[in-house]
Amino acid sequence: MHGNNDSFEAVIGLEVHSQLLTKTKMFCSCPNIFGMEPNTAVCPVCLALPGVLPVINIEAVRLAVKAALALNININKKSLFARKNYFYPDLPKGYQISQYLDPVSSNGYLDIETEDASKKNKINKRIRINRLHIEEDAGKLIHIGNRSYVDLNRAGTPLVEIVSEPDIGSAAEASAYLKSLREILVYLGVSDGNMEEGSFRCDANVSVKRKGDAELGTRAEIKNVNSFKFVEKAIEYEIERQIDLILNGGKVIQETRLYDSKENITRSMRGKEEAHDYRYFEEPDLPPLILSEEFINEVKKSITELPAEKRRRYVSEYKLTEYDAEVLTQDKDIADYFEDLIKENSGRIEIKKLANWVINELLSELKLKESGERRPVDAQNFLELITAVESGSINRNTGKIVLAEMLSSGKSASEIVKEKNLAQVSDDKGLEDIVKQVVAENQKEFTDLAGGKDKLFGFFVGEIMKKTKGKANPKKANEILRKYIDENK
Ligand code: ADP
Ligand code: MG
Ligand code: ZN
Repeated sequence: MHGNNDSFEAVIGLEVHSQLLTKTKMFCSCPNIFGMEPNTAVCPVCLALPGVLPVINIEAVRLAVKAALALNININKKSLFARKNYFYPDLPKGYQISQYLDPVSSNGYLDIETEDASKKNKINKRIRINRLHIEEDAGKLIHIGNRSYVDLNRAGTPLVEIVSEPDIGSAAEASAYLKSLREILVYLGVSDGNMEEGSFRCDANVSVKRKGDAELGTRAEIKNVNSFKFVEKAIEYEIERQIDLILNGGKVIQETRLYDSKENITRSMRGKEEAHDYRYFEEPDLPPLILSEEFINEVKKSITELPAEKRRRYVSEYKLTEYDAEVLTQDKDIADYFEDLIKENSGRIEIKKLANWVINELLSELKLKESGERRPVDAQNFLELITAVESGSINRNTGKIVLAEMLSSGKSASEIVKEKNLAQVSDDKGLEDIVKQVVAENQKEFTDLAGGKDKLFGFFVGEIMKKTKGKANPKKANEILRKYIDENK
């Protein structure tokens, strides 16, 4: 009756909570900012004082609809808010306002790219999304020594919860799904996607079943894992644990587990609550949320090109490699910047060269810098530098020095070149004078060179470079030295 690991398959469904980038909270006008002094971004509404009433933040609705549309989820023109009741010190109302029976959107999908079993070929897989709904966040408990403190700044922060169908088959797929989801939300300006600060968090539901079985196994839910790496590890561990348990004659029980990243294990936290434990009922203080066709269309228009489409276009339209397209589109600001360069350039320099400049020079300079500034040099200015190098008026190495200087001083390329006297010496007269000087200083070597000892050619080019502090245009220097040898044999 025993099988081995290969006779099982994993079934995973993810519930993602993502904070929305609104100025104010979901149902009050408190600022929605991370990192303020505890309990300073609060008001009677989010403190749950008696007699207050919530008001729906339309900006949060707009962002939620935007995310839903980008994830191909159907928008429900009428949706309802509901109270999810539970007791916890960070939840002053004793309930969370969420959506339950009629969410703002349901039935969508996200296409992800994963690898096949051989890990050699990329394949696309569609992960169905059950729903995206709006809710508010709870506050936060801070434990110091043997005391616990409550910070209610986060209470009432707008969230979307995005629930996948159990279509995910491995830890790697889960990670690909999360990365793609996060990328889209950040691109659209819906969320900052910050996992460390908890503005993008994920609960993973994991079960296993014998291959081919139609019925799903009993699942465990792993709560709030705060990095992509840990999500993968937690899921991998949990799959192993459940298979071992079954192979040893045990039974998986439905429960909530916590991942311990130090030990790399999951631990039982509590029995899984059922929906009825929350005593859901419709929020009596809020009207139904009714969305007009015009509102939905207006949001639709605000959706810009998504990263996956952008990557495909960079490959087909700009003829870039998959790798270049990937690097350039990872950050929307960088992609926008690259496209500004292309516009500014209007066909003069090859697009591939522009891409190389951004990837090899600009991005690596930015990595060296601490600041998070994504647009450090304006496109026109950067293009001026690229043109100067590609046309040979300064050499490539000098170009790098100029770029570093542009980033630190904010000056333009031409200013720096002029100031530091960095232009390449490529005028014939200037170079001829230098060749004459070098020959005068190395009479014997020149006689040998002119007599046919061509090995010395490199030595002379080196001397010319030294004299010009590396600014001689190497091609020009070669030509003029050759001519000089021919004329002085
Ligand atoms: P709950 O309301 O208890 O959280 P849901 O039915 O909303 O339960 O499902 C929550 C998540 O669990 C969804 O992402 C769903 O895909 C996933 N899920 C449901 N059943 C299973 C299962 N047997 N194995 C793995 N994931 C599952
Ligand atoms: Mg749930
Ligand atoms: Zn408030």
